[in-house]
Amino acid sequence: MDGQLAVGGVPVERLAERVGGTPFFAYDRRLLTGRVRELRAALPADLQLSYAIKANPMPAVVQHMSTLVDSFDVASALEMRTALDTTMPPRRVSFAGPGKTDAELRQAVAAGVTIELESENEAARIVRTGAALGIRPRVAVRVNPDFAIKGSGMRMGGGPQQFGVDAERVPALLKELAGAELEVLGLHCFAGSQNLRADIIIEAQRRTVELLLRLADDAPGPVRYLNLGGGFGIPYTEKDQPLDLAAVGDNLAGLLAGEVRPRLPEARVVVELGRYLVGEAGVYVTRVVDRKESRGKTYLIVDGGLHHQLAASGNFGQVIRRNYPIAVAGRLTAEPTEQVTVVGCLCTPLDLLGNDVMLPAAGVGDLIVLYQAGAYGLTASPTAFLSHPAPAEVLL
Ligand SMILES: *Cc1c(COP(=O)(O)O)cnc(C)c1O
Repeated sequence: MDGQLAVGGVPVERLAERVGGTPFFAYDRRLLTGRVRELRAALPADLQLSYAIKANPMPAVVQHMSTLVDSFDVASALEMRTALDTTMPPRRVSFAGPGKTDAELRQAVAAGVTIELESENEAARIVRTGAALGIRPRVAVRVNPDFAIKGSGMRMGGGPQQFGVDAERVPALLKELAGAELEVLGLHCFAGSQNLRADIIIEAQRRTVELLLRLADDAPGPVRYLNLGGGFGIPYTEKDQPLDLAAVGDNLAGLLAGEVRPRLPEARVVVELGRYLVGEAGVYVTRVVDRKESRGKTYLIVDGGLHHQLAASGNFGQVIRRNYPIAVAGRLTAEPTEQVTVVGCLCTPLDLLGNDVMLPAAGVGDLIVLYQAGAYGLTASPTAFLSHPAPAEVLL
């Protein structure tokens, strides 16, 4: 064998037999555990780590993460249920996201999770829900900052946004909430995703702390929760350099000791991460069903595609399509000898998984694996598009 890929110690060919076929996603719990350990080592000890479940909501993954992180961030009622099925206490679950319905708010208030409110209107609806249920809702105000973060794959703060309450309107809202039947725990700011530049993240965290501390002056009681967001990115292409985690950790340590602790000694200070925790712990495994030549180009056509792993096709928020890391699972150590284009089985030219990539020779029956598939894979893909069966997901 020319080096076969194994996940959690199981060779993927054997895993395919165990799963019952391809395509499938496989996640490695040892990589999840290792990643959290690295983060804990780099981040200050009194900074808490939250997992944003939307990155990978597979219940077994969430269950495993519940043993590793301090809290969960959820963005729907079903994510909340998945979170609450673990041993994570409800007060350590935060519920963010625009457009929470009255039904979702009712579930969240009944569960006792922290609702990260995204508008004045939502605040009023939470108060009404609490009154109807006879439960004091626990809330934090999500702030849309008065600055934008450069270099993020997806920007979610600064300028006009559907996310959060504009920073300049937060003092008035906090004053209003002071008289309401609510427990205002603190403040939240999440302004962007998939950032690989430590200098930009550092600058953003400085400005976030400065902003949230300024707004904390208007909080109705002691601030017990300060969520600084995250946005740590992972490398997807050859051009990407991994994030300098040590630099980010040092900066956070300085901010906590120098700024946050003296002002808000009671606050639980949190960074919330999705992709960075799970993205590199998963692979998407497909099998070649056809190999064809067309006017000088060689195609490997696999049994998976963008309906399971949209991001690898370049259609999930990317501005420029670049190849995600890809390999022939049974020939990891073999020299790449030919240039091929790997496409999925969907009848659309969008279903491009590897464009003109150099791989060892592969043909019908070989397994092709896409890396960095642990975050925003299956649940961020249009699974119903073209009506193929859903893939399996396994955690090893
Ligand atoms: C999506 C999201 C996250 C996670 O983002 P990543 O880029 O995966 O780390 C965290 N917090 C909120 C509020 C989100 O919407």
